[in-house]
Amino acid sequence: MKKIMIDLDETICEGGYLEAVNEYLHTDYQYTDIPHYYVEDVMDEEEKEAFLDYFYQHVNIYKNVKVLPKALEVIEKLATKYDIYIVTAFVDRRRVKESSVMAKYKYEWIIENMPYINPKHIVLTGSKDIIMCDIKIDDKVANLKGYGETKLLLNHKHNENFSHEELEKNNIRRVYDWEQIGSILLKESEVV
Ligand SMILES: [Mg+2]
Repeated sequence: MKKIMIDLDETICEGGYLEAVNEYLHTDYQYTDIPHYYVEDVMDEEEKEAFLDYFYQHVNIYKNVKVLPKALEVIEKLATKYDIYIVTAFVDRRRVKESSVMAKYKYEWIIENMPYINPKHIVLTGSKDIIMCDIKIDDKVANLKGYGETKLLLNHKHNENFSHEELEKNNIRRVYDWEQIGSILLKESEVV
């Protein structure tokens, strides 16, 4: 069975960070307003420090995340023919100790929302580059470089600046939604 590494944030679910930032700043940013990978980069350095203190003490973003359309349905189908690993980074270098709570929140969300995933296949890490999976699905280009025969980059505002040629050099293919991922990795009769 081939192994698939699937990222969690902005690949399976999204939204919690933005809501936390909007609540903290009393703003109404939309994802399309934010060209950065880290939503909180809309703040200046001093404000960001105060936000991070607040964030790690009070916010569990996984209470507010939205699942990307068809993500869970497609992954459940994939789980019948591939070995699925949910691989998600939780170490925040800016708050090394405090970010341990993210491992707990991520683990709890995955076992609750994806009961068909073997809990032993939940990989909470800071180093995705050590993962040797045949297929990788992520929204961050750096996580797709290196090992892997099929590498799918889920399109987001923050990765739009990578050109087709640049991605091709690393054998990375840009995809736009989970239906498309399903059509690449499943047989026609299995597509949800
Ligand atoms: Mg991600």
